Amino acid sequence: MFATLSDRLADTFKNLRGKGRLSEADIDATAREIRIALLEADVALPVVKEFVAAVKERARGEEVSQALNPAQQIVKIVNEELVAILGGETRRLRYAKTGPTVIMLAGLQGAGKTTLAAKLALWLKEQGKTPMLVACDLQRPNAVRQLEVNGERVGVPVFAPEPGNGVGDPVSVARASIEEAKRRLHDVVIVDTAGRLGVDAELMQQASDIRDAVTPDEVLFVVDAMIGQDAVSTAQAFLDGVGYDGVVLTKLDGDARGGAALSIASITGKPVMFASNGEKMTDFDLFHPDRMASRILD
Ligand code: GDP
Repeated sequence: MFATLSDRLADTFKNLRGKGRLSEADIDATAREIRIALLEADVALPVVKEFVAAVKERARGEEVSQALNPAQQIVKIVNEELVAILGGETRRLRYAKTGPTVIMLAGLQGAGKTTLAAKLALWLKEQGKTPMLVACDLQRPNAVRQLEVNGERVGVPVFAPEPGNGVGDPVSVARASIEEAKRRLHDVVIVDTAGRLGVDAELMQQASDIRDAVTPDEVLFVVDAMIGQDAVSTAQAFLDGVGYDGVVLTKLDGDARGGAALSIASITGKPVMFASNGEKMTDFDLFHPDRMASRILD
C-alpha cells in the first residue's frame, strides 16, 4: 500500500533537492505535484485540497525561507501534515473503569469484521486481557460458525445464540452476552455485528439497537482499505447511522493505493486505531500515524 504515493512524492522532492532558496514557482510546482500524487492514490478531492493548501501556506512561511535546506523542510511539513491527517497521536483503546469493556464492530459485509474480531481478541489476550467474542451477525449464513472457528484459532470463547433456538435476535444476544461476560469474569467483550453488501437502513437500525443495548466503550468502524473512494461515503453513512469512535483499516497488505486511510480519517475526524494487514491472526496492530507517514515518505 502507498507504493505509488510514496514514489510520486519521492520524485517531487527530488526536483527540489539542491535548491538553496525556493521561489514562488518552486512552491507552486511542488504543490501541484503533491496534489497529483494524492489524487492518484485515491484520496478524496476535498481532503487533497485542504492538505495541499496547508502545505503551501506553511511552505511560504518563515520555517522554509529561513531553513538551511528548504527541500528537507518541505518534506518535514508534508510529514507533519500526513501525521495530523491520520489522527496525530496513536489512539489507544479506552477500557471501562468498572465491568467489562465493550467493543462493538460495525461495517460492510466482507470488510473483514469477523476476522478482525478474532485478531483483536488475540491481541487483547496478549495484553493480559480475558476477552469474549459475541456473534451478533445472524444475517449471513455461516457467520456464527466462522466466528466460532476463528475464536478456536485464537483460544477465545464465543458467545452465540443456542443452536435450535431459531435464528435469534441479535439485540437479545448482545444484551445476554454482557451478563454472561460478567458471570464468567471476561474483562473485554467484542461484539461482531451483521454487515450488508451495501449500506441500508435496516442494517443501520439493527446496529444502533445493539449499540443501545450494550452501550459500548468503543464502537469501531471496520473498513476495507481496498474500496478506495467508496470508503468515504460508507464511513460517513455509518457515522451518521450508528456513530463510532475509531476506524479499523483492513487488508492493508493488498495493493490499495492508500487514499481510503487518509480520506476517512480526515473527513470523519475519527482516528484510525488499528490496522489489519494479512490473513494470519497475528497480522494486526495498533495504527501509528507517525509510522505510516514515515512509510509514505521513505
Ligand atoms: P466480514 O464479512 O466483514 O465479517 O469479513 P470477513 O472477516 O469474513 O473477511 C472477508 C474476507 O477478507 C475473508 O476472506 C478474510 O480472510 C479476508 N480478510 C480479512 N482481513 C484481511 C486482511 O487484513 N488482509 C487480507 N489479505 N485479507 C483479509
